[in-house]
Amino acid sequence: MQDPICKMEVGVDARFRSSYKGKTFYFCSEACKQRFDKKPESFAKG
Ligand SMILES: [Zn+2]
Repeated sequence: MQDPICKMEVGVDARFRSSYKGKTFYFCSEACKQRFDKKPESFAKG
């Protein structure tokens, strides 16, 4: 999986994750998750 914010590779066991439109996104850190949660529509492509 790839962190949509910073493009870092993260495992499916990543602690930080969000669901958006039925998809689950994984993040390397709380900071990346918070950025996603503010504006998911600008990161959740594809
Ligand atoms: Zn990240």
